[in-house]
Amino acid sequence: MANNEQTIIMQERDVNNKRQDHLNWDDYFMAVAFLSAKRSKDPCTQVGACIVDRMQRIIAVGYNGMPRGCSDEEFPWQKHTNNKLDSKYLYVCHAEVNAILNKNSYDVQNCTMYVGLFPCNECAKMIIQSGIKKVIYMSDKHSHKIETIAAKKMFDAASIEYRQYIPNPGKIMIDFDEINWNDQNQLPTTPLKIN
Ligand SMILES: [Zn+2]
Repeated sequence: MANNEQTIIMQERDVNNKRQDHLNWDDYFMAVAFLSAKRSKDPCTQVGACIVDRMQRIIAVGYNGMPRGCSDEEFPWQKHTNNKLDSKYLYVCHAEVNAILNKNSYDVQNCTMYVGLFPCNECAKMIIQSGIKKVIYMSDKHSHKIETIAAKKMFDAASIEYRQYIPNPGKIMIDFDEINWNDQNQLPTTPLKIN
């Protein structure tokens, strides 16, 4: 099956015209958010965020993790503990917060945030106060939780636009060998997009 797929791609590649299967902006920015999430040490939930300005420039990325100086090895990653002081919830910085604080521009006014999971109420406050105007999220799996309901209540009041990202394709593969296909006079072994 894999060989057949490769054959089809080889036949369809047109080296004289613009590529038609390039990533669109939504795919690209959400993929950056997801790639950033791969850095997370959290055993349960890995969330990434990517902030983009009106000129489609990435000005920040972030993922959920311990604050600087708080060792990943020493601080807890458990959810439920007998001693509340041993719960990760007291310590972990969410992806949205890290992205906003790590921006490489003066501010994030009028920017769009791409994020893997709908923001919690605490992140929603920070998103609103930072001047971000639009949130594009992937999953809304916590929609029943009061934190999410409160976040939406605040977004609505503050006129923050939010919408769900519908992935197309469902997967994006990165093949580090792909750049070499020209030199080696051979086609990439994996397609960029898999539906
Ligand atoms: Zn949050």
